[in-house]
Amino acid sequence: MVDLVSQYEKIKSTVLPIIEDIMSKAQFINGPEVSAFKNELQDYLDVKHVIPCANGTDALQIALMSLGLKPGDEVITPSFTYIATTEVIALLGLKPVFVEVDPQTFCIDIKQLSAVLTPKTKAIVPVHLYGQSSDMEGLMEFANANDLYVVEDNAQAIGSSYTFSGGNQRKTGTIGHIGCTSFFPSKNLGCFGDGGAICTNDDDLADKLKMIANHGQRIKYHHDLVGCNSRLDNLQAGVLRVKLRLLDSYIDARRKAAAQYDEAFADNERITIPYRSSSSTHVFHQYTMKLNGVNRDEVHEALASKGIPSMIYYPIPAHKQKMFAHFNLQCTLPETDLLTTQVLSLPMHTELQEDQMKFIINSVLDCIK
Ligand SMILES: *Cc1c(COP(=O)(O)O)cnc(C)c1O
Repeated sequence: MVDLVSQYEKIKSTVLPIIEDIMSKAQFINGPEVSAFKNELQDYLDVKHVIPCANGTDALQIALMSLGLKPGDEVITPSFTYIATTEVIALLGLKPVFVEVDPQTFCIDIKQLSAVLTPKTKAIVPVHLYGQSSDMEGLMEFANANDLYVVEDNAQAIGSSYTFSGGNQRKTGTIGHIGCTSFFPSKNLGCFGDGGAICTNDDDLADKLKMIANHGQRIKYHHDLVGCNSRLDNLQAGVLRVKLRLLDSYIDARRKAAAQYDEAFADNERITIPYRSSSSTHVFHQYTMKLNGVNRDEVHEALASKGIPSMIYYPIPAHKQKMFAHFNLQCTLPETDLLTTQVLSLPMHTELQEDQMKFIINSVLDCIK
């Protein structure tokens, strides 16, 4: 699915001396690389504050902790997402309220928001799934009209841009009140371990987010809020600085592979290629197609027997996970349920070679007859 070894080989000569230097100074926590990376990511995203943290799940948790919500408050989010998005809501004693995704974009269907709005609704967590933005203009209008916070789960879409109808363009993760991302190795901007970041343009939220990620303290040993310990380490920040400079070229490589898949599959009746929203740029964290009229699981297995990895993101939607059984959720999400039987993601990374692409494409077409 990914080839991080080949990617590493290309940056090895730049990255190793940086790692060596950090090791020789034993600057592991809160070092200069962390603050440099923070500033560089702020510039790249054009956002006022970046708060680095330990991983993407922590980023979401800290974001929700900063909003001053009360137990039982409701947070609207898609069910068709990675579990981290929904898990942190429940972890904080809040109630996840699942809504459908648009079957074309795979992102939260904003037409369904008003049906689940209650006096307890306090926030929406849209997920920019597979690397393309949710409908942020419509979502922000709804949120502003109903006084709701918006926390973007941008773990899969860093580098993507969203264009508002007035022409104003923003990077995903900087449109809502808070944006969260992950630097898990296989993400579009991945480090050599775990890492994450939170961003916001709001000074007060930034102050609170920073405190929560650091045991609730602004001044050492003065703990004003219940927080946690969530840090990006200096080694990871050193690696991320190198890879951030390459992020746009990495995205180009992903788009090139996606275009080749598109061209090969566009005319196949049984394959629906990823939809491209006119208001947002796709950064192809995943190349996810929908299969119709064939058994998706059989295709998945047939590809595996040819040595081609493919993945089902995600086979069980959040509303059907046992961890949420105690909420007694009465939601029915037919679009989401259908998608979990149709989606299949193909190998997608920055190092796909011509011969590999040909082999994957021919094998997919062979398996879907
Ligand atoms: C990867 C991911 C996360 C969590 O990130 P971690 O760094 O693994 O904790 C959250 N949401 C989505 C949509 C993700 O893809």
